[in-house]
Amino acid sequence: MKIAIAGAGGRMGRTLIDAVLADSELSLVAAVDLPKTPALGTQAGPIKITSETQTVAQADVVLDFTRPEGTLALLKHAKAMVIGTTGFTEEDKDRIAEAAKRIPVVMAANFAVGVNTVYKLAETAARILGDAYDVEIIEAHHRHKVDAPSGTALQLGEIVAEALNKKDFVFGRKGVIGERQPKQIGIHAIRGGDIVGEHTVIFAGTGERVEVTVRSQSRATYANGALRAAKFLKGKSPGLYGMADVLGL
Ligand code: NAD
Repeated sequence: MKIAIAGAGGRMGRTLIDAVLADSELSLVAAVDLPKTPALGTQAGPIKITSETQTVAQADVVLDFTRPEGTLALLKHAKAMVIGTTGFTEEDKDRIAEAAKRIPVVMAANFAVGVNTVYKLAETAARILGDAYDVEIIEAHHRHKVDAPSGTALQLGEIVAEALNKKDFVFGRKGVIGERQPKQIGIHAIRGGDIVGEHTVIFAGTGERVEVTVRSQSRATYANGALRAAKFLKGKSPGLYGMADVLGL
């Protein structure tokens, strides 16, 4: 399978280059990033990182870990796409859904298999524990992350909200805010150092507290999941798929 990596000079891009080069089923045919990035012109296995976005057209699948504007530009050239970028607006998501009528796309705020397991565990816990337990979601990431809360925390919020049929998200708290309302789902973001990614869903009841936590220790976990998604796309019809489809959940 021919693979292109977008955002090749970034943290995820570099991890993906190593993962693709180490996989005998995959060959790296394009690696793109923005003009003026220090990584431009440097070697990515057999090829060089370039700013010529259209070069991704020669790949069977584009792995995109860039920024929303990068994703939208790449959709014009890709035959199939794995979208790992986060921080999309509702309008951006509509444009991705529109493109997915033409090409197959796997989009996930988090490609780590363990995190996707926690999605399922949090949903199950919410259904069993119900409204008697207050839900708070805490995420932590490295100091360079530009969007908050993480796409994964938002996804966890949506999953729990759907399971409990309540959707009053509260992002952080400050001042005299009054008593906690039962409908609330609190979401909190911590930023610091080199934390790769941590997510905890707390279900706080009377007399006990349940916590579901996943800690991602290396970006390789996202890269492995992204490669599974790329292989899943082989021969797929156009459509917008998620990691639940890839993992058969
Ligand atoms: P990064 O800043 O280290 O790398 C991003 C790279 O994309 C940079 O090299 C940058 O120059 C490049 N870029 C930016 N705009 C571009 C454009 N328009 N066209 C081409 N390249 C462009 O960031 P990162 O930590 O590698 O994360 C990248 C994205 O992936 C972020 O949105 C992050 O939240 C997301 N992410 C998702 C997952 C997941 O599992 N879905 C995991 C980790 C990171």
